[in-house]
Amino acid sequence: MVIVIEFGCAVHEYVERGSGLVFPRPTECPHCRVVDQFIGHGFYPRQALHQTQVYVLRLKRWYCKACHATVSLLPSFMLRFRHYLLDVIQRVVVTRFEDAASWGQVARRCAVDGAPSSRTMRRWCDALAEHASAWWAAVQQTVAQHDTGSPWLDPLGETAGPREAPRAVLQAALHLLAWAKTRWAELATYGLADRLRFLWHWGAGRGLGRLI
Ligand SMILES: [Zn+2]
Repeated sequence: MVIVIEFGCAVHEYVERGSGLVFPRPTECPHCRVVDQFIGHGFYPRQALHQTQVYVLRLKRWYCKACHATVSLLPSFMLRFRHYLLDVIQRVVVTRFEDAASWGQVARRCAVDGAPSSRTMRRWCDALAEHASAWWAAVQQTVAQHDTGSPWLDPLGETAGPREAPRAVLQAALHLLAWAKTRWAELATYGLADRLRFLWHWGAGRGLGRLI
């Protein structure tokens, strides 16, 4: 089980700072819901890939004394089950769905010496297409609760098909971030390139499951 955490730094800083980082101890166990039962349980190594570089991260683990579950802290610049950094993945899905690029164009713009492979990039796009509707609905619901007059709500109308959902959720992520920035000062430095990192952190905390 993982908890997605915003460490407020990029991957290279995470690696450089090592054990100097602050690893927040979760209060409530996401497995058994009992509080204040977590004790430290070391670290485990996890690879994070950039097009031209491999980082090895140490992910902090916590152990729940009540239910014996182990929970690890996943930095929000990583997705579960994906070795590549979210930055790399975001570039691919934005190029494909927002810029409507062909697969050849996606490869030319996003890959360096064949990394990521075309097959991997297609898999990311397929995964986003599969999960986009659920995430989009959750974002719309949240923003609607706080800003009923928002002009971007449901921008594609009811007839929009699943083909449009990835593009819609990429847009929705921007609007969610814009709204969140008005509420939380610590998001001041977040920009366009951080939108999926923010969306992932936000949605993981709400139990939305896989994004990509
Ligand atoms: Zn537990």
